[in-house]
Amino acid sequence: IGIIKKYLEETKPILESKILMEALRQKNLTDALTGLFNRKYLDEFIDKKLPNEVKNGTTYAIMFLDIDYFKMVNDTYGHDVGDDILRKLAHTMKQTIGENEFIVRYGGEEFLILMKNPTQESAYDLAHKINQEFSKIVFNYGGESFKKTVSIGYSFFPSDTDQIYKCIKYADISLYEAKATGRNKVVKFDKDILKSGDKLDY
Ligand code: GH3
Ligand code: MG
Ligand code: MG
Repeated sequence: IGIIKKYLEETKPILESKILMEALRQKNLTDALTGLFNRKYLDEFIDKKLPNEVKNGTTYAIMFLDIDYFKMVNDTYGHDVGDDILRKLAHTMKQTIGENEFIVRYGGEEFLILMKNPTQESAYDLAHKINQEFSKIVFNYGGESFKKTVSIGYSFFPSDTDQIYKCIKYADISLYEAKATGRNKVVKFDKDILKSGDKLDY
């Protein structure tokens, strides 16, 4: 017992610093406002995990989501209300995804959802569910109530392109298409979208 006790006493600082390091790592990889993963996590995922998954034949749907007319919320109700809506959107997304998906806060009000081994149908269903669920929420601030919507563009990796960052760009281009054609909708990537405008280079 004496030896064990001594061992535990000696390793305690090491264990504690390991736990601390892990906590720091987690903090480093998540977004403080929403608790979702951040860009750093996405980049680590792409560098360290994705290559092996690709070898094993794993596929992904990549969804790019952006709130419609979000600037108006900040301008009308203030930045705190905007933050609150971002948290509620994050909550809605977390509630809607399953264990094969993860969410990244990509930019201010832009999010990426990565769905592992999707089918055409399951990707469509998830994107639509998030779009629907979020649009149902009634926000109440300062005696006024209103609703917000999101637009989503999505692509398939590696079937649309086997370059992951290009595939993210394809989802972004599809999101742009959703915005340009009315917002509050889901658009699947299609090579035809590239033919319009100045997007031929992608
Ligand atoms: P669109 O439908 O085209 O997406 O219009 P939009 O107004 O949503 O787009 P725009 O890119 O013009 O505005 C995004 C706004 O998001 C601008 C910025 O102030 C706000 N924003 C970004 N990050 C945050 C944040 O962390 N908190 C708050 N409250 N607002 C943020
Ligand atoms: Mg935006
Ligand atoms: Mg927006």
